[in-house]
Amino acid sequence: MLHLDFHPTGRHFLQIPGPSPVPDRILRAISLPTIDHRGPEFGALGLKVMADLQKIFKTTRPVLIYPASGTGAWEAALVNTLSAGDQVLMFETGHFAALWHKLATRLGLSAERLAWPGASAWRQGVDASMVSQRLAADPGHQIKAVCVVHNETSTGVTSDIAAVRRAIDSAAHPALLLVDTISGLAAADYRHDEWGVDVTVSGSQKGLMLPPGIAFNAVSPKAIEASKKSTLPKSFWAWDEMLEINRSGYFPYTPNTNLMYGLSEACDMILGQGLDRVFRRHQRWGEGVRAAVRAWGLPIQCADPALYSPVLTGVMTPEGLDADALRRLIYERFDCSLGTGLGQLKGRMFRIGHLGDCNDLTLIAALSACEMGLKLCGTPLAGSGVQAAMDFFAGQQAPA
Ligand SMILES: *Cc1c(COP(=O)(O)O)cnc(C)c1O
Repeated sequence: MLHLDFHPTGRHFLQIPGPSPVPDRILRAISLPTIDHRGPEFGALGLKVMADLQKIFKTTRPVLIYPASGTGAWEAALVNTLSAGDQVLMFETGHFAALWHKLATRLGLSAERLAWPGASAWRQGVDASMVSQRLAADPGHQIKAVCVVHNETSTGVTSDIAAVRRAIDSAAHPALLLVDTISGLAAADYRHDEWGVDVTVSGSQKGLMLPPGIAFNAVSPKAIEASKKSTLPKSFWAWDEMLEINRSGYFPYTPNTNLMYGLSEACDMILGQGLDRVFRRHQRWGEGVRAAVRAWGLPIQCADPALYSPVLTGVMTPEGLDADALRRLIYERFDCSLGTGLGQLKGRMFRIGHLGDCNDLTLIAALSACEMGLKLCGTPLAGSGVQAAMDFFAGQQAPA
């Protein structure tokens, strides 16, 4: 490990918005001996984890588990429900939405992109009225799916998924609703059934606090119906065999056994605390971090306070300060990793993750790394963000 040469003691501050810091309890669970994935113990584990996941996705329908990164589950959602040349409507809220669009195009779908114009692009959530207008202009129902990102990790902006559902319904359009909550799940409120989502895509290494390597599709009955007619090629990602074998807790191929132990532990932690408490905790961390950014006098990438992400905060750097040079300095001097600006935001912003195994004090420490780094780069600051965060956290009730 290269950084050990620079930082022989203490813990590295992994303050990126995923992979998030993994709680020791989960690391210990993962370290147990690997078992037979066709033996009796594994079937019980599989059934337990699938039932727990339904509570976290807030669905009574199946949740499929892939040994893959989130990108695999993006692909699974599309290849199981759509056919070559199908039209899909995607809203570009940021870099991840753009990557999903690229993936759809590479699969041979005709992927249309909606976006906010000009300076609002990548600073706002999905505009549901744009979606309903576009669907209303499609009386022949050529558009087969609407794809949106719930928590845009490249910007720190959330989107109102219930509003997107209402937009589809108000146009009386039969398109499927596919939602990426790879970084939102188990950190921001999410309701697969209530919001009428057809496929929810998620992953292990963000709100679920696991290492990378597991990804999910939560599916609706309408999505399963669509999968019976879909003709895009699929084998590894195919839902049919997976759903069949999952009924007994097993998988058609080798699942990620040790990560499944971790997943079981993560579900116990999250459901044991209660989802509402988990959401409040992230909300509070986000408020504390934003108090610091405001005190510095730096702009927050998310332009609408109602859409602030509870998972991460995107901080825009002043003209002339390369955000990646700042990140590099903070890494080398203070052993703290911050998220890079992605796509068109490269060099212009950094992202502070407030998810996973952190608490008020680790966040204050990470903010102090940012503040020291900003000062070392000669950035004029309006005030102390660390002081503002301390005041915020001290003035709040102890985390519930
Ligand atoms: C992390 C992330 C992805 C990509 O997931 P990988 O695990 O890197 O494949 C996609 N969408 C969002 C919103 C993400 O945060």
